[in-house]
Amino acid sequence: MVFPPAPSESMEWANLGLTVKDNVNGHVESTYSVLTGEWTEPRFVEDPHIKIHGLAPALNYGQQAYEGLKAHRGPDGNILLYRPVAHADRLAISSSYVSIPEVPQEHFLKCVKYAVARNAEFVAPHSTEALLYIRPLVFGSNGHLALSAPTEYTFAIYVQPASAYHGVQPLPACVIEDFDRAAPRGTGGAKVGGNYAPVIRHTQKAAQQGYHVTLHLDAQTRTCVEEFSTSGFIGIKKNGDSVTVVIPDSKTVIQSITSDSCLTLAKSFGWAVEKREVPWSECKFFDEVIAVGTAASLLPIRSLSRPSTDEKFVYGEKAGECTQRLASAMRNIMRGNVKDEFGWTYTLQEKDLLLPEEPKAEELKAEEPLIEEQVIGYNATQDIKAATVTINPIPAPTSVAVEA
Ligand SMILES: *Cc1c(COP(=O)(O)O)cnc(C)c1O
Repeated sequence: MVFPPAPSESMEWANLGLTVKDNVNGHVESTYSVLTGEWTEPRFVEDPHIKIHGLAPALNYGQQAYEGLKAHRGPDGNILLYRPVAHADRLAISSSYVSIPEVPQEHFLKCVKYAVARNAEFVAPHSTEALLYIRPLVFGSNGHLALSAPTEYTFAIYVQPASAYHGVQPLPACVIEDFDRAAPRGTGGAKVGGNYAPVIRHTQKAAQQGYHVTLHLDAQTRTCVEEFSTSGFIGIKKNGDSVTVVIPDSKTVIQSITSDSCLTLAKSFGWAVEKREVPWSECKFFDEVIAVGTAASLLPIRSLSRPSTDEKFVYGEKAGECTQRLASAMRNIMRGNVKDEFGWTYTLQEKDLLLPEEPKAEELKAEEPLIEEQVIGYNATQDIKAATVTINPIPAPTSVAVEA
């Protein structure tokens, strides 16, 4: 068996957008029961819908946390996951905010790798700008009305082929004035669904006014920069040959893994790095500002506006040179163009398909009558059993049962 398979020929890699098209093989699910205290082995499910009790705390009380990471195809056709360990660790932190039992790092990695391996043909060709976006999510899933911890949780991993925003023009951003996404001592540091829905109407309003990116200030004093609505904030100052990268340090922002990658790369370039409080008033001294996140990559900011004070700081119509250098260094690592000196990428392997062990010759013989029986009887259960035990189930868009 050749792994990974080549990219699917039925995809239009150049224009994928972010629309959910349900055109992949399926997703992965694992459940946790308080009774066993364990997560089940991952199951591959073709149907994109999840059956969930209508009284589940996920739907009623927002007991949910999620992640977002990416896979790219390297020049040799291999598939590279970007910083999966960091994403596993952050999901554990987010889960703790909403009383969801931790998905252990090993289990997170196994499930994510399995989801990508079973959808490997949806990882775009290296020559395109497209990528596979991976969305792990975890939620309280049994019917449970009390405001206490439920007894069952579901961990699911979805994948979607998506376009990279790469090479986009710098965008204008504005401060959101009449809403705070995160309270002091609140949940702003967790990637939990409840932090996002309340922001939508404010980003929509800003977009109507021509601002495609929105910035949050700290809720307590409204004097310091926190982060953009879906990405981290980076400010860059240049002074002759010396460059300083500034990143807000706050308990109420998401610890952006993209931002962390930028910090590490900046240090490797010999640039100064400061992670500290960033007063809004300092924004006028930045030479470049970037919004950074897994989905947006490095999005250069053209200007920062604050309507209530009539301030507008302009950074330029073109991506700055430091932004470009950071973006291309990160892109080269993600896409396997250069040696990954930081140990950030994982190369997907055939074993990530979690195939049953190859049966030995005697076992194959013993199973033969089962196949005949099954062909005559058309017993679906036996079908699946026969398929998984005796036939090498090469993952394909069709299900194992149909293949048999
Ligand atoms: C996900 C997210 C980020 C970016 O995190 P990355 O790890 O870089 O993808 C930043 N801010 C918010 C609010 C986010 O939800």
